Amino acid sequence: MVLHPILQDLVKTPFFRYFKVKLWCDCPFWPDDGMCYLRDCTVCECPESEFPEPFKKSSRLFSADDVICQEGKPQAAVDRTLDDTIFKGWIQIDNPWTYDDETDDAAMTYVNLQLNPERYTGYAGPSAQRIWTAVYKENCPQYPSEEWCNEKKVMYKLISGLHSSISVHIASEYLLDSSANLWGQNVQMLYDRVWKHPDRVRNLYFIFLLVLRAVTKAADYLEQAEYNTGNHVEDLKTQSLVRQLLYNNKLLSACRVPFDEVNIWQGQNGPDLLQQIQNQFRNISAIMNCVGCEKCRLWGKLQVNGLATALKVLFFVDGKNNLQLQRNEVIALFNLLNRLSQSVKFVHDMGPLMEKMERHDSSPT
Ligand code: FAD
Repeated sequence: MVLHPILQDLVKTPFFRYFKVKLWCDCPFWPDDGMCYLRDCTVCECPESEFPEPFKKSSRLFSADDVICQEGKPQAAVDRTLDDTIFKGWIQIDNPWTYDDETDDAAMTYVNLQLNPERYTGYAGPSAQRIWTAVYKENCPQYPSEEWCNEKKVMYKLISGLHSSISVHIASEYLLDSSANLWGQNVQMLYDRVWKHPDRVRNLYFIFLLVLRAVTKAADYLEQAEYNTGNHVEDLKTQSLVRQLLYNNKLLSACRVPFDEVNIWQGQNGPDLLQQIQNQFRNISAIMNCVGCEKCRLWGKLQVNGLATALKVLFFVDGKNNLQLQRNEVIALFNLLNRLSQSVKFVHDMGPLMEKMERHDSSPT
């Protein structure tokens, strides 16, 4: 896959490897029940000296009131006509699709994602199960599936696709022998948790295409954005990789449309439904605070944030204002795309072996 190597290089750049996250947080739904005691669960946070200098300076601070105050004011109109660029600097504004207050810098910490890879941690059992159950329940109240409107089906597929992707990462980097610290692939796990359920594989492709489509839609914005970390050479490389990804990649323009986002949320109940789904998504983001394994929480939060950003881009309907993204949202968006691309590649590469296991499974004993 042409896309994958570019993404792999991109997420290693200084701009994309630092993610701002609130790791120490109370679960708003139930008492913390499941800290995972494996060494692999802990996240190693960056000392402040490590993360890029421009990240420390606060971005332009916007509040929701600022945005509303500008509306209709003559000076705002002048601003808009004079300014023909789309990207206007990184902003710091609370994302309505997520639960954490992203403007509360004091509660946030920077994590070097390259030092904290998402892989098997041993987090399992009732605590992990409770999270998944809560996530599915939040989004998909118990409607019989025929009654689901299109929008609800979309949300279910996204969550299930993300769940598949996490399972694929666990299976692709599994602790095979703890005494020898031997890591490798657990193909049986890939088969049992993902391949055996064709809908889970389909949902993985679905979320991958949706995020790809969001990146394509925001291409002009993402091209103009500043990827500044103070390291000129690295930053030029980042900019070049982003361009390669956005424009030189035939896959992006050829990418199949997973659904028509223009016509979704447009029915009679469209705006209400969008609001309802935004609230549900915010609750899913809150549930991530209850994940009882620090590293799973980190990647859960990043990927939910990335998905929230993709949805924000795809369903951005405010004709009066331009799309505005936070630096952290773009970091989450590209890291999520990379994780999904990795999952799709792994499932694709393992296809022949999985088919063999399937034949073996269905052959009479
Ligand atoms: P689970 O994966 O816990 O699934 C629970 C139930 O959901 C299944 O029994 C099945 O009925 C249903 N289900 C499973 N997959 C799908 C799907 N794709 N679509 C629809 N339904 C499905 N563990 C790690 O080792 N490393 C991690 O980085 C990690 N990150 C995590 C992040 C989050 C946010 C959460 C909630 C958990 C994470 N875990 C991680 C734990 C991991 O996801 C599993 O919960 C754990 O491995 C136990 O798996 P399980 O077989 O019991 O089934």
